[in-house]
Amino acid sequence: MLAILIYRSRICAKSLSFNIDKLVSSASRINKKQGITGVLMFDGTYFLQILEGGAENVDQLYAKIKMDRRHHHIVELMRDYAPRRSFPGNGMAVYDMRSVRSANDLMRELVAIGISRDERMFGFIRAFVSGQWKEKAGRIEETNRWLLTPGRTVPLLSADNSGIYPPCKFALQPIVSPSQNRICSFEALIRSPDGGTPQYYFSSIPENKIHEADIYSKIYAFELASKIGLGDEKISINLLPMSLVDVPGAVDILLGQIRRCNLSPEQVIIEVTEDEVISRFDAFSSEIKRLRSEGFGLAIDDFGAGFAGLSLLTKFQPGSLKIDKCIVENVHADGVKQAVVQAIISCCNDLSISIVAEGVEKTEEWEWLNAAGIKYFQGFLFARPSLNGIPEIRWPVINDNSI
Ligand code: C2E
Ligand code: MN
Ligand code: MN
Repeated sequence: MLAILIYRSRICAKSLSFNIDKLVSSASRINKKQGITGVLMFDGTYFLQILEGGAENVDQLYAKIKMDRRHHHIVELMRDYAPRRSFPGNGMAVYDMRSVRSANDLMRELVAIGISRDERMFGFIRAFVSGQWKEKAGRIEETNRWLLTPGRTVPLLSADNSGIYPPCKFALQPIVSPSQNRICSFEALIRSPDGGTPQYYFSSIPENKIHEADIYSKIYAFELASKIGLGDEKISINLLPMSLVDVPGAVDILLGQIRRCNLSPEQVIIEVTEDEVISRFDAFSSEIKRLRSEGFGLAIDDFGAGFAGLSLLTKFQPGSLKIDKCIVENVHADGVKQAVVQAIISCCNDLSISIVAEGVEKTEEWEWLNAAGIKYFQGFLFARPSLNGIPEIRWPVINDNSI
């Protein structure tokens, strides 16, 4: 199968003096053997390369390219398949953009050397030549600029909820604003009495009791929040949307729990996903209105994970939206994810919704998202969930040795 791969990368400061022609002549020998054709463009700082060839060969070459230390910030922009080559028989065409006058000139030249028109491919070339993508692209620095260092640690509490039906515990994971060195919220994640996952906890409950358990369990989350003592931080809880609909007086039960723990609804954010189908949307919608009128904050959880998507957002607009881990993972190296995140940011800016990036594990992911304008983060990079207490948080600080 014929595969096409487009990536962009940035030259490392140390390789600035390299000779592009020399690089290409050695590479093209290998490419020819592998049957890889395409184009390489360089604008003095960035490369754009289109590779086409047998899918396996392209993958192997791309793996090698990613290991090449002469460039970094390698972002995959497109991976596609086609019935025929766009660069038939031309090997690797090379353009130093500093001597190309305009995008149109280059397009004409490419067409003149027999390159077949592919709208998407030409779109990437045009965008690269115009340089406009740079305004939107989140920038990440050369590696090792940031270190993550432990901050204050709060000793674990030893709350024991065993023996109360339905027995459960909560783990807290902070949602942080690294630029302000501030914790915004603690997300309460349900655990079985022995610390098991939410899935394990809910699997121990009869199906017809799940919504009830979901609502009633929250007393332990609020107790924990009350014990650790919330300052400006909030407590975020997860609810299945239908728990709000199916449990009679759900909002009042939550209000009662909150009052008992000396908290106020303004300190509570309710996270919902479309994890289970919202079968009675009108009823759900009136509970949402009620929650807002009592002062609760709302968040759409797992945005982009398949269930919680644009359609849920058109139905109600929460104060915050949490981008799912599946989009966050390796966003720094994936142009498709970057375009999706840019669209989410633009949409949330228009609607004045704040964004939390979830499941952030790598410094590069945070750096890219931070540069793109996201302010709030949750993930193992900063802190893991901690049973019955607050975990140690690692804050990014500039690594002096990197400068
Ligand atoms: P969620 O609300 O999206 O919660 C975040 C999940 O991602 C948590 O898993 C957390 O441990 C995990 N996580 C956080 N940072 C990272 C990271 O950097 N890498 C990775 N790989 N994972 C990370 P957990 O605690 O297993 O919860 C899973 C899901 O269970 C939650 O996803 C939420 O949808 C659901 N859940 C948790 N508590 C409750 C609850 O009280 N009620 C209901 N209905 N659902 C709950
Ligand atoms: Mn959540
Ligand atoms: Mn989530």
